[in-house]
Amino acid sequence: MTIKSTINADLTHFNTLGLPVIAPRLIEVFSVDDLFKLSRENFFEKEKPFILGGGSNILFRKALTRPVLKISISGIRVQEEDDNHVWIESGAGENWHNLVSWAVDRHYGGIENLALIPGTVGAAPIQNIGAYGVELEQVFESLEYFDLQDYLVKSFESENCEFGYRDSIFKRKLKGKVIITTVTLRLQKKNHVPNISYQALKSYLDERNIINPSIRQVFGAVIAIRQSKLPDPAMIGNAGSFFKNPVINQSAFQLLKEKYPDMPAYPLDHGQVKIPAGWLIEKAGWKGRRVGNVGTYDNQALVIVNHGGATGDEVYRHAVRIQKSVRKNFGIGLEPEVNIVE
Ligand SMILES: Cc1cc2nc3c(=O)[nH]c(=O)nc-3n(C[C@H](O)[C@H](O)[C@H](O)COP(=O)(O)OP(=O)(O)OC[C@H]3O[C@@H](n4cnc5c(N)ncnc54)[C@H](O)[C@@H]3O)c2cc1C
Repeated sequence: MTIKSTINADLTHFNTLGLPVIAPRLIEVFSVDDLFKLSRENFFEKEKPFILGGGSNILFRKALTRPVLKISISGIRVQEEDDNHVWIESGAGENWHNLVSWAVDRHYGGIENLALIPGTVGAAPIQNIGAYGVELEQVFESLEYFDLQDYLVKSFESENCEFGYRDSIFKRKLKGKVIITTVTLRLQKKNHVPNISYQALKSYLDERNIINPSIRQVFGAVIAIRQSKLPDPAMIGNAGSFFKNPVINQSAFQLLKEKYPDMPAYPLDHGQVKIPAGWLIEKAGWKGRRVGNVGTYDNQALVIVNHGGATGDEVYRHAVRIQKSVRKNFGIGLEPEVNIVE
């Protein structure tokens, strides 16, 4: 396929919040050769494009003044295998959930807990996607990227990616400086022991008397739980969890716990404690609350929804209201998980 270009593109269907944002140009690339071609035309220097995957983790605050470059590099292949493992290389533009289904169909274990996360494979390392007790870094082997500083293709192993909780080097030092083109995962071919430590997943399986679930049973359970809890962006615009779960130190947590004995918390290393942001937002009175065209989802306070007709700035202002309210009530700052594009 050749590079596709649209002038004055409406991005409503290119962001899961469904915001009707216009970009001066939308360019879609299908291969690394397309990226080389654009660099020979000095496109990157001149235009400083915004890199887009599936648009499920971004908030466009207003109309864009620079072009949007959509990464649609496809292809899934087995790169290597040994007795126990298989290394899968996927193009950055592949749909993440399709890759998970592809692996489950072949009984390759390791990513079944990450079913139904929207977006592309190329964006998965950016925030080290995670769900139901598993994070991408646990199966991540390497990636290739197109360096926007010297226009060369390079590779990174896991240790270069500085993965953290919903975080990586690509959200910090390398933000906007690279285009991820392929991602390689190491999956389990034999004797895979699914991770069912996450309480909601464990309860779902226990209720059905599933003691030693197969990869497919875990995949099915995760899909069922997600469908019951999270809004489908095709029905109601949203970008998933809007904020990260804040991490505070043990002494700050003890003080809060005296005031709010039912406050849930997950202990981490180094005396740190993770608090569910959804609980803080709910307690601050925002669950299901609507202001104009924007609101907080009825079943999950962590998700900001577009009830129809919202602008990017309205969504942004709603997020700021929530942040201020949580800070006022609990003295805790909420950091957006969603990438805000100014
Ligand atoms: C309903 C819903 C549920 C969700 N659940 C989860 C969840 O359980 N766990 C979780 O971790 N996330 C979740 N998310 C967030 C989102 O799905 C992930 O962050 C996903 O990885 C984003 O992929 P994307 O292709 O849509 O990225 P985009 O939103 O298009 O982009 C995100 C960022 O990555 C950059 N980017 C995208 N592609 C590339 C590339 N190839 N090279 C370089 N930079 C790139 C963009 O510039 C942007 O800064 C959810 C979102 C929704 C809407």
